[in-house]
Amino acid sequence: MTKAPGPAASPDPKVYGWCPGALRPMMSGDGLVVRIRAPLGQLSQDQASAVATLSERFGNGLIDLSARANLQLRGITADSYPALIAALQDLGLVDHDSAAEARRNVMLTPLWKPEDISHRIAAQLEQALRDAEDLLLPGKFGFVVDAGESPQLRDCVGDIRIETSGAELLLLADGAECGQSITAETAAEAALDLARWFLQQGGAPEGRGRMHPLIARRGLPASHITPRSASTPSPTIGNCAIGQLVGLEFGQITAQALATLAEQGALRLTPWRMLLIEGRHDIEIPRLPGLILDARDPRLRVSACTGAPGCLQALSATRDLARDLAPFVPEGQVLHVSGCAKGCAHPRPAPLVLTATAPDTFALIHHGKAGDHPLRDSLRAGALRAAPQILTEGS
Ligand code: SF4
Repeated sequence: MTKAPGPAASPDPKVYGWCPGALRPMMSGDGLVVRIRAPLGQLSQDQASAVATLSERFGNGLIDLSARANLQLRGITADSYPALIAALQDLGLVDHDSAAEARRNVMLTPLWKPEDISHRIAAQLEQALRDAEDLLLPGKFGFVVDAGESPQLRDCVGDIRIETSGAELLLLADGAECGQSITAETAAEAALDLARWFLQQGGAPEGRGRMHPLIARRGLPASHITPRSASTPSPTIGNCAIGQLVGLEFGQITAQALATLAEQGALRLTPWRMLLIEGRHDIEIPRLPGLILDARDPRLRVSACTGAPGCLQALSATRDLARDLAPFVPEGQVLHVSGCAKGCAHPRPAPLVLTATAPDTFALIHHGKAGDHPLRDSLRAGALRAAPQILTEGS
């Protein structure tokens, strides 16, 4: 749909240009947010159980699973922060060096098998990034290792990608449809070379920047000439080859639910708002609040950010409205409810978007991002609940 020019849905949100890390926590409306970048996106049963305990002891018992498959412990107080970090370092979940921790931004396909190509490349890349002290990348700059039978992380944010393409392995700059042919042995070094190229080409003025806009401006390196192949959709809730996938409402889990899942097996963190219980199939998971165990659950058709009061920038609460409207979102569509124009929960366009402009007041956008020009404005949450057909009128 063509959108008319005009003002954005809500005032410009503050853009930090970096994400909270364990050693660089961000203050939010409910305390510090401490992000755990679990090596290879995996938690052993002991680690998962310990993280649940730490969340209850030092935070508010709420844990986010981010779109880059990281965990975020919420509600941490400044007083308890040092003890929390020491405990996470003892668990091997946080580096001792904050710069190495920031560079080690690698998302590995959750469907890896021990010692397969994806697993080996990600382990080498994580270590190479820890060691690359000269590499001063922007805080959000990330790598994706997606070298299974066919790529499944195309919709996930990342600046440098290592992907399967038929019988080949490709190194890709985000936003490109052609990449450089590489091998499992050269992949990690080639990825670091592309990161250095990004910096040399002026991709990060003032320490900020992403690969996609640089490619749009500058074009690709000359060696990036091999076309990428088609991808396959990500798996859904239930059994998969590696284990069993469990959905998390709005990508959030309570400490109690995490402890319960940890009793079942080691966990893999996914960018799909799901946790993967390794090596287990057809297990009965207790029906705990926030866990989604049915692939037809309408809550899978909505995304909503933290909103008020948990986020300091939020203009309204978001999740209760998203939950109430979920049954009215047509099959195959997605509703994104955003607390401000930044659109953290769904950075890409969505068919239906509600962006808060004031407490319990939203702008409606069709086929766009949270900050795009709205189709309708000043919609009260109560009116949307009373007449949810408003969402799709005019589409
Ligand atoms: S989109 Fe949501 S979580 Fe992100 S800054 Fe705005 S209110 Fe906060």
